[in-house]
Amino acid sequence: MPPDSDPPIAAHDLNHWFGTGEARKQALFDVTLKVKRGSLTVLMGPSGSGKTTLLTLLGCLREVQDGSVQLLGHELHGANGALLTTLRRRLGFVFQAHNLHNSLTARQNVVMGLQVHGNLPADQADTAASHVLHLVGLGDRLDYLPANLSGGQKQRVAVARALVGNPDVIFADEPTAALDRESGANVVDLIKRLGRERGTTTVMVTHDNRVLDQADRIVTLEDGRIVGDRQTNT
Ligand code: ADP
Ligand code: MG
Repeated sequence: MPPDSDPPIAAHDLNHWFGTGEARKQALFDVTLKVKRGSLTVLMGPSGSGKTTLLTLLGCLREVQDGSVQLLGHELHGANGALLTTLRRRLGFVFQAHNLHNSLTARQNVVMGLQVHGNLPADQADTAASHVLHLVGLGDRLDYLPANLSGGQKQRVAVARALVGNPDVIFADEPTAALDRESGANVVDLIKRLGRERGTTTVMVTHDNRVLDQADRIVTLEDGRIVGDRQTNT
């Protein structure tokens, strides 16, 4: 663990391109950003402004092409696969596209989120998974298959799966979009509490007012550039 004074995430002059030749297009321009431990940072901006690209670069899901990303004290630019794997184990991801395994129950899906962290005994893994499912309001759905859960409930299982390993950093892309008012608020409350109690740092793409109200900082992207960066008083 880096000392608390070291930011868990620091990007410096980050540029990113997609495609080759004629189709080559720059998606991020000179992005520089430091994120404080335990904070909730929201990324906003129009569709195509580079939010997902930035989130996946910070979260070791995409190779850094140009510039620097320091994550939990390690440089990602040029990092080898072993380091990236080790770092990913300390992260939690909630992406809309991250589907649940249809043949596994809610609890078994959440247990999958623990298996990347090594081998907990099965009963302890079950207990941890049940606990987090209770926290996201699914204590009465532990043994349901995804087919028997609503869209919002499935999204909460995905949130529980991201949180169960007690990650140092959570990366989330529109995690509350499919949630009703109350479960959206529960998820945000939970993330805020993890920040306070465990120092968990969260970077989240969202336009959800329930989240914006609770954010410590709102960073706005436009055409691949940071055009706004506002600390909020929470
Ligand atoms: P946002 O999440 O803000 O909607 P993205 O980060 O997904 O924006 O995309 C930023 C830019 O990069 C857009 O112009 C998009 O078309 C382009 N882009 C994103 N992913 C890819 C990809 N895999 N291949 C080619 N272009 C991409
Ligand atoms: Mg996106």
